[in-house]
Amino acid sequence: MALYASDMPTRRRYGSKEQVRAWVVQGVERLGRRELTRRALFFNGQFLLALGGLVPVPAPVQARHDERFPDAYRLTVAGQATATSVLFDGMSKAAMKRNAAAKVDGQCPCEDTGRMFIDIDGDPDLSYEVDCPVHASTPQFVRAGR
Ligand SMILES: [Zn+2]
Repeated sequence: MALYASDMPTRRRYGSKEQVRAWVVQGVERLGRRELTRRALFFNGQFLLALGGLVPVPAPVQARHDERFPDAYRLTVAGQATATSVLFDGMSKAAMKRNAAAKVDGQCPCEDTGRMFIDIDGDPDLSYEVDCPVHASTPQFVRAGR
């Protein structure tokens, strides 16, 4: 979020570690902590819904995501620079916890129940029920190496 909002160039290689850190600080200062957190929550919510393509992303939710991040390529570049930054600098447990938080910017297809039925043309063989990647009561991912 911070890098997307910073002056980081979109179509060039990332800068040095120090430069990337400076862009992160610039983005945080530019957005403010509250807006940064809000955007990160909604970004993660949209990301989790879109992940794997099993769950429909409601059009209004996708539209607000696209409005917040009009340059999809820049969002990709910022994500890659963030991953590289985390590789070099690591991440605190508090940051990991913050980064795992997600929220849907609008009505979630599960209607906050944690489960959703995906109806494919009314065909019971094609249709399925799935845990909501944002609101499921149990974790969706198991991390190796614990
Ligand atoms: Zn949901």
